[in-house]
This record gives sequence, structure tokens and C-alpha cells, in this order.
Amino acid sequence: MAIEIKPGVVTGEAYQAVIAAAKAGGYALPAVNVVGTDSVNAVLEAAAKAKSDVIIQVSNGGAEFFAGKGYPDSFQAKVLGAVAMAQHVHLLAEAYGVCVILHTDHANKKLLPWVEALIEHSEAHFEKTGAPLFSSHMLDLSEESLEENIEISATFLERMAKIGLSLEIELGVTGGEEDGIGHELVEGADNSHLYTQPADVLQAYERLAPLGHFSIAASFGNVHGVYKPGNVVLRPEILKNSQALVAETHGTDAKPLDLVFHGGSGSEPEKIAEAVSYGVFKMNIDTDTQWAFAHAIGDYVFANERAFRFQIDPEDGTPYKKQYDPRKWLRKGEESMVTRLLQAFDDLGSTGKSVCA
Ligand SMILES: [Zn+2]
Repeated sequence: MAIEIKPGVVTGEAYQAVIAAAKAGGYALPAVNVVGTDSVNAVLEAAAKAKSDVIIQVSNGGAEFFAGKGYPDSFQAKVLGAVAMAQHVHLLAEAYGVCVILHTDHANKKLLPWVEALIEHSEAHFEKTGAPLFSSHMLDLSEESLEENIEISATFLERMAKIGLSLEIELGVTGGEEDGIGHELVEGADNSHLYTQPADVLQAYERLAPLGHFSIAASFGNVHGVYKPGNVVLRPEILKNSQALVAETHGTDAKPLDLVFHGGSGSEPEKIAEAVSYGVFKMNIDTDTQWAFAHAIGDYVFANERAFRFQIDPEDGTPYKKQYDPRKWLRKGEESMVTRLLQAFDDLGSTGKSVCA
């Protein structure tokens, strides 16, 4: 590989080289949503153990939580929390020896000012270091018309490309909801709106490719969150057909599109593998790691119930400090999240494949 990729946050050409390595190697990277240093550190620990590169992602709500729910200005908290998370990762990813792609999650039209504020922070970071603070931001303008979706995305990408920032866009509609953004599933309907048309993907490619680097989350029946199975059928061949249409029209190599899989929680491993084979390099994971974190802490609380009710046991005077110390039970959550992520790296085929030198 021509570009040397060093541990730490990976941006610009190095980020594109990580994507190229994943597509050529037939694997994808999990994009793990984080809400605080506990979840960030669990991701770094897991990626170091798995010897995999990884994508750390924060939603607007996760960023707000990172800054503190008590912060009086909710918008500023979303900005400051995302920046604080990024700074924490910049420092520790290098120390852990892990290559991390820093991403933000779904931002609809209302959240465009949030992304703009983060781009400003990246521009300031670029002035100082020659690299942006984040690797990539995501816009989800799938509620708007295709034309407006693509035009707003183009405006953002033009500005972002100047400092080596990439853009992820969403085409078509992913069912379910994430942090208040999304579309309800219609029970019993054909849900045909959940499938992106390859012609739409071609249109986005033609507008955005000359401007900078971008990735596309195309809908192929995927659903955010975990729902009752059977309502929507996954059709990964939509991704294959989109790659083929762009390749035929523009004479590119076989997989010109860098594709992203949203709503992968609860999907069958065969469907995930099929999607990866069509050029998916990023799969969002949130619901499953939230569950892993929560249920391990739940188990601990149930097993140490009295320590969560009494500081000192009123019956026999037992002091419970060792059990209720937050480090004790938060660590249970982290450990369980690490275990779940090791499985995610395996499912996506990235274990042992880090391109970090
Ligand atoms: Zn999505």
C-alpha cells in the first residue's frame, strides 16, 4: 500500500485507503455508536484485541449526552460533546495502537447546523494540524426530494473536501427510527419505499464524485433498531445492481461505490456477508452494543441487589462500597460490549485485518 497508515484517527487519503483495503479484502468495519468514555474505551479495547480497524460514531443525542444532559444549551452540548469525544479518541486511539475512523451519525435537515458547527471545528483543526478533527460526517436527507438531498449534499461536500473530510449520504428510506430520525414501518404494507433505486444511486454518484470522497447508505430493506422479523425482506442485490449500473455507465472498476449498511442489528449473517461482497465497508452497530452493555449491568445489579439498596446492610452491617463503586458495574458493561464487538469483527470479517502500521 502506497500510504502509510498510523494508529490514531484516520482521515482523507488514509481513510480512503482503509476503505479500499476492506473492499479488496472482502470485509467491512463496524461503526459503533458511543455515548461516553465507557463506550469509547470498550471500542478501543475490542479493536486492539481483534487487531481490526474500527469506526467510532456519535449521534446528535450521543454527543449531547457526552457533554452532559445538564448542560443548559442543548445545541451547544451536541457540538461540544462531539468535539470532546473526538479529542478523547485522538489522544487514546494512538495510545491503544488502533486506527479509528471518526464519524457522526444521521443528521436530517434540522441538524444541518450541527454538522456545519462540527465542520468549523474540523477547519480549525486543519489549520493547526493539516487534518480534520473528524474523518466523515453523515447527512440523512432522505425525507427530502432526491434532487434536494443530492444538492444539499453537494454543497456540504464541496466545503468538506477542501480539508479532507468525507461525507456519507442516505438514499431511500431506512425503516425504523434512530434518535428520533427515521420512518415508521407500515405493518402489512409492501414497504416498497424501503428500497433504493439504482438509478437514484447513479444520479448521486454523478453529482458528488467530481467534488470529493463520499459514501452511500442505500436502503435495501434494512431497518433501524430491532423489530419483529418478517415485515421487511432484505434485498442486498440492490447494492450489486447499483454498483453495476455506475460501473457500466462510467467504465469504472467493478465496485466504484463505497457502501454503508444501516440497520444491521438482528440481520442474518448470510445477508450481511452478501452485502459486504457488494462493496459495503461500514456497518452501523448500536442497538446490539447497547443491549450488551445494559444486560451485563442488569445481571450484576440483580446478583448484588442489596448493595444497590443499602450503603451498609441494616441486618448484619456489611459495607457494600466494593459492590456499588460505579467502576465495578460500568466495567461489567464495558466487558460485555467488548465481547459483542469481537463477534461483530468476526461477522464482518475484519478480525486480524488492521492496515495500521
Ligand atoms: Zn440510515
